[in-house]
Amino acid sequence: MKITLAKSAGFCFGVKRALDIAQNALKKNHQVCMLGDIVHNEDVVKTINQLGIKKIKQLRKAKDRTLLIRAHGAASKTFKKAISLGYKIIDATCPMVKEIHKIAKEAEQNGYSIIIIGDNKHDEVKGIMGQLKNKSLVIQSIDDIPINKIKKATIVVQSTQNFEKTLFLIKFLKKNIKQVKIFNTICQPTRIKQKEIKVLPLKNDAMIIIGSKTSANTHRLFEISKSLNKKSYWINSLSDIKRTWFKNIQTVGITAGASTPDKTTNEIIEYLSKIK
Ligand code: SF4
Repeated sequence: MKITLAKSAGFCFGVKRALDIAQNALKKNHQVCMLGDIVHNEDVVKTINQLGIKKIKQLRKAKDRTLLIRAHGAASKTFKKAISLGYKIIDATCPMVKEIHKIAKEAEQNGYSIIIIGDNKHDEVKGIMGQLKNKSLVIQSIDDIPINKIKKATIVVQSTQNFEKTLFLIKFLKKNIKQVKIFNTICQPTRIKQKEIKVLPLKNDAMIIIGSKTSANTHRLFEISKSLNKKSYWINSLSDIKRTWFKNIQTVGITAGASTPDKTTNEIIEYLSKIK
């Protein structure tokens, strides 16, 4: 069976950076904690916990404690509250997410309503909303848009959104809002991953998409792959693979989400390379 691995498979720049920052934080600080998981991947979360970074649910009065802000970023009030409670802050927010914060804040100061194309339950989107004084509108489809109610808006996009769907929504927003500024802030690593996943499923008999079920960007890769090749399978680890998927399969393409470690991908490649 011929195996082709997407060039863009695995950690993106922002995740690698956040993990480096987390490891360095431990060298210089005794008690490092995080609100939630560093990235959406169980293996990475486990490694980080084993290294000694604690996951906390809420901020409490702190002495000699460091709060690590995750790659997805956080709301301004989280920073303020943590500082007031005595935490030292180490900010691992991805620079591309920071850029979205900057665009949204400046636009709000200039009198624009902010529309975010994204998932309002996702931490990155909550972080963007949490930069703003006024309530922003989060949309995922045309049905979420209150036509004729918004006259002046700036549009930003969650970094891992589906590129095609986003273009469709942007076109609609341009038509329906009188004064609109568009910033398609889907990040470069996401664009490259999505470009590759539009080709690989067409060139292979089956596709394996590796990543946690909690990972939004892996979900997007799977959705695109499945729409092009019915034999697309989304797995988190080697134990999810079924041998029967590869009956009469000669070629298999593989990609992995932005928070999937190479170790997981390599284990799967090794397993597949032994199938005759
Ligand atoms: S997916 Fe993009 S925005 Fe998110 S951490 Fe990776 S590089 Fe940064």
